[in-house]
Amino acid sequence: QTAPLLGAADIRRLAESIGVRPTKTLGQNFVIDGNTIRRIVGAAELDPAETVLEVGPGLGSLTLGLIDAAARVVAVEIDPVLAAKLPTTVEEFRPGATERFTLINQDALKVTELPHDPTALVANLPYNVAVPVVLHLLEHFPSLRHGLVMVQDEVADRLAAGPGSKIYGVPSVKAAWYGTMRKAGVIGMNVFWPAPKIHSGLVGFERQDPPATRASREQVFAVIDAAFAQRRKTLRAALSGWAGSGAEAERLLRLANVDPSARGEVLDVKAFARIAEAKIPLEA
Ligand code: SAM
Repeated sequence: QTAPLLGAADIRRLAESIGVRPTKTLGQNFVIDGNTIRRIVGAAELDPAETVLEVGPGLGSLTLGLIDAAARVVAVEIDPVLAAKLPTTVEEFRPGATERFTLINQDALKVTELPHDPTALVANLPYNVAVPVVLHLLEHFPSLRHGLVMVQDEVADRLAAGPGSKIYGVPSVKAAWYGTMRKAGVIGMNVFWPAPKIHSGLVGFERQDPPATRASREQVFAVIDAAFAQRRKTLRAALSGWAGSGAEAERLLRLANVDPSARGEVLDVKAFARIAEAKIPLEA
């Protein structure tokens, strides 16, 4: 891969050309370092035939790297000014690649259809909505079978955490519903403009079948939300509202083969699925 990636001078020139002043609310921190882009794209382990979904392409730093590594890139950007500029940036830096690139000016949290089925999600995500974006896309695009996202480092650790860890929580269990998440590295602050005040982390994922259960995803997620809403309480207490009473919570937990005096942070996603299933009556 010898095609040039965007550096600090390119990013400054592109931003100036459209009068962009990065906003915090949209999590706009642009990568100004080609080596970081190479690292992200490398860690994504893309097959050259893949269609990649990129959320928040911004000024195009990662987009160019993805265009070099995959057959097609579909990018979803919420900011209309950035979205309007990106096709011309692709044309400037990768002439001829525009046919393999589609830009959609939309909120990624609202996207439920794309012109091409993406097989991989690779993105430097807006940090304030990173977890909802990942969960939303995994839910709506079953064709996504793997990916690599850059998020706030602490969120990366949380997404990849397993039961029993202090940081294991709602994002960890819900992400585990869709597959396995692994921490794939830490990125410093200086590779961005403007530089964020926190480190970033890379998370890779592989889709796996959800646990076999008669409960729906919504039903399982409702148990997860209830169990962690009161993290310090036992499951019997935390799930009493969900079950209708403490005694009923205890009965359902025992039915699911889960210790009612345990806390949610020790359960894996399969155990949450069993609890949700315990509440569903068996068909006669
Ligand atoms: N990918 C670029 C890079 O690596 O330099 C920019 C990454 S920046 C951390 C996040 C980008 O996501 C910004 O371009 C921002 O405008 C965009 N964004 C923020 N919220 C979004 C949303 N809900 N849907 C789609 N894009 C969003």
